[in-house]
Amino acid sequence: MVVISTEPDRFDKLKALSTMAGDDVLGRPPAVSQFRRDLTPSNDGRTYRAPYSRKEKNPMPGIYKASMPGGKTISLMRTMFTDFCMMDCHFCPNSHWVPRRRFAYKVDELAKTFAEMAERNMVSGLFLSSGIMGSGASRTTQKMVETVEAIRKRHKFTGYIHLKVMPGTEQNIVEAAHRLGTRLSVNIETPTDPGLQQLSPMKDMNRGILAPMSWIDRLTKARTGETVGQATQMIVGAAEESDADILGRITQLYGDWKLKRVYYVPFRPVRYTPMEEHAPTPSEREYRLYQMDWLKRVYRFDNSEIGLAFDTKGLLDLDQDPKVVIALENPGHFPVDINTADLPTLLRTPGVGPISADRIMQHRRRFTISNWRDLQTMGVVPKKARGFVVMPGHRPEPARQLRLELLGHTEPRSSVDLVDVKRELTASRSSPGPTPTGEHSDCADRASCAGCPMFGAPGHPGSVAVNQVTRETVSV
Ligand code: SF4
Repeated sequence: MVVISTEPDRFDKLKALSTMAGDDVLGRPPAVSQFRRDLTPSNDGRTYRAPYSRKEKNPMPGIYKASMPGGKTISLMRTMFTDFCMMDCHFCPNSHWVPRRRFAYKVDELAKTFAEMAERNMVSGLFLSSGIMGSGASRTTQKMVETVEAIRKRHKFTGYIHLKVMPGTEQNIVEAAHRLGTRLSVNIETPTDPGLQQLSPMKDMNRGILAPMSWIDRLTKARTGETVGQATQMIVGAAEESDADILGRITQLYGDWKLKRVYYVPFRPVRYTPMEEHAPTPSEREYRLYQMDWLKRVYRFDNSEIGLAFDTKGLLDLDQDPKVVIALENPGHFPVDINTADLPTLLRTPGVGPISADRIMQHRRRFTISNWRDLQTMGVVPKKARGFVVMPGHRPEPARQLRLELLGHTEPRSSVDLVDVKRELTASRSSPGPTPTGEHSDCADRASCAGCPMFGAPGHPGSVAVNQVTRETVSV
């Protein structure tokens, strides 16, 4: 007798629901070859079938790499409880606009699947999200909490669990989630209330999103549960929000509620939704926002400094690292003496990060830093820092490193002017321009360019290296 089942098994659900959880930013799936172990004993009890590793060349469904604080990487099972959602978010593939087959776990089924994967060291943590079931946000979060409770109590799992709280969940359920999850998050989706009304008309920014976030903050500060922090996520470029709007919102989130992370997801149009014709957001914007976030959260730049990186519309330059733009707007602060500059100054120098700044501070207590090799060993990126740093044997003139003076600009500039300057810089990269002196026009000794008095001048071969400082510096 042949039995044909139309019911999805655990693998079908894992495959479908982990794929739909892919909108939540965490990391990339590893190759399935790392996880070739089987999970379920076959009927004879001796051999194993492989429900979670069907095609070696495909990524293992449900398993993703995630970076933890301190740089450690762990494998997480990332899945939704259900990809059914009653809501009408205009950007979301799980919204009710999209006609598609939907799946849902049962509480015990998901708890058991995760526990089996954890027992076999396939994963060491769980990231659990969900759509909102017809019974509402509180009931959906309740189901997720019951799953985590089963994992914690019945399967004795004590590791990392990131639990999404559905917008609009009641306070007592948020408290239950807080007792069990290592990290909680409520997706804020967009920085402003009008933006949320545009994207998700059924959601309420204050009561549905900000209120649960404030409860989580209060509970975390009171240390009443497992939760040690919260995060959130924004869809970027869907509600025509500016980067300045985003900066304003993250200032509140990192300041008042000490969020661990804000994740930025570039908008991608989804077929059948009201925004299917809307242009996608370029990935460069996501990248620049993470750089801005890094300046705010790690480098502790204040908002007036970060504001220098915005244009008149409140947007970051997609072609420039905001840290470099800010440095260019502060020509009086550079070059900095690498042997005497204080920590905040070092952190504002392109090519120098928090770790390398700390190493510089320690190293120079006993030694004078006088060469790029030492700086490189400490983590500084010479080609990015070269135009902004002075030390014995390396003293570029401010006019050369900043290039603003080279282009004839002498007064502090507005953001609009800066855009013009960058255009000129770009033009100077493509066409060398007039050669300052014939003697340098054919200089081939690029290795000694840094010591050359014409280094950085328009037309000089070394100017290519200087211009790359502007274009390529990455502050994260
Ligand atoms: S509530 Fe969440 S899952 Fe549901 S449509 Fe909105 S963004 Fe998508």
